[in-house]
Amino acid sequence: MDIPLLDLKAQYETIKEEVIAATMEVYESQRFILGPKAEELERKIAAYTQARYAVGVSSGTDALLISLMSAGIGPGDLVVTSPYTFFSTAGSIARLGAIPVFVDIDHLTYNIDPEKLEKRISTMSAEERSRLKAIVPVHLFGQCADMDSIIAVAKSLGIVIIEDAAQAIGAEYNSSDGSLKRAGSVGNYGCFSFFPSKNLGSFGDGGMVTTSDEEAFQRLKIIRVHGSQPKYHHKVIGGCFRLDDLQAAILLVKFNYLDRWTEKRRENACAYRELFARKGIEEIELPFENKGRHIYNQFVIKISHKRDELKRYLTNQGIGCEIYYPVPLHIQECFRYLGYRPEDCPVSIEAAAKTIALPVYPELRYEQIEYIVEKIGTFLKMM
Ligand SMILES: *Cc1c(COP(=O)(O)O)cnc(C)c1O
Repeated sequence: MDIPLLDLKAQYETIKEEVIAATMEVYESQRFILGPKAEELERKIAAYTQARYAVGVSSGTDALLISLMSAGIGPGDLVVTSPYTFFSTAGSIARLGAIPVFVDIDHLTYNIDPEKLEKRISTMSAEERSRLKAIVPVHLFGQCADMDSIIAVAKSLGIVIIEDAAQAIGAEYNSSDGSLKRAGSVGNYGCFSFFPSKNLGSFGDGGMVTTSDEEAFQRLKIIRVHGSQPKYHHKVIGGCFRLDDLQAAILLVKFNYLDRWTEKRRENACAYRELFARKGIEEIELPFENKGRHIYNQFVIKISHKRDELKRYLTNQGIGCEIYYPVPLHIQECFRYLGYRPEDCPVSIEAAAKTIALPVYPELRYEQIEYIVEKIGTFLKMM
């Protein structure tokens, strides 16, 4: 049985006619950039994420970049983030001349560890602290970071929070005030990606920034179009960060299915839990779920040894799997100048060595999950 890590063709089959009709509308309108489809998508994403405003941009990476620019982050500024994430979280910080400050992750959620965050900040000199401008928490794999703690730290320092919610559209965390809050609605900025592998994926690149701050919203819209306002008058240096209407048209079709698809992912995660438990497989650590809503962009398990052998075995059995991420950012070659040693973020190093993502996409069938768990059981017996 061949089971890919993600089956976008299967998904396309279910929405083909709608997608073709929606893109035809764009052909007929000949409005390709920041047109009516992009605007409609912005309204829908703002409402969905419980933010007041949303600004469609060219990618998740550009969502991060434009948010950092809007927050005034520049050369010499310090920005705290996680070393265990996709590259662009820290890449965007460094591209602006700012300095990523890596704080290790929690071993259960793989999100930034609030205790280590407080500790790192408490050991900063007054000079360093004066340069600290923002925190970029990542809601990794579709589960929110510990936002209450992060908000408390940011408030006490008077710094900005930019949520990297690229993998977390519709994720919710249980706030200490008892309410469920959505990813992208609690920081000053929320950054989303429509990369095809995300829960809401386009047929190319796309992204969105959410904010509930009117001034930030106005700044983002200006930076998105080269800093121009009115046209050809440039107050600031922005960039080409616009969203295409063709992508927005496709995303609007898919948006109608997003909650159904997310529920399917959550059901698949439950099926894995049930099947691993029934088989009595204890060598595998399943994803930790906080109270709230995990949207399972990835279903990532941990195995204490022979992870690479497991990956090879599953691949040979036709089961798609992937390592997210094999090299934590604090030891990436391009960040060598920052002077980190591997042991500065030991939990990230361990996660990079022991975790592996299994298929969890909405179209995955129960028998396929059974097959995957069966094969993992066989592998463990052979070891
Ligand atoms: C996908 C992703 C991004 C970047 O999004 P793109 O649309 O690919 O530029 C940033 N951060 C995280 C955590 C991601 O998963």
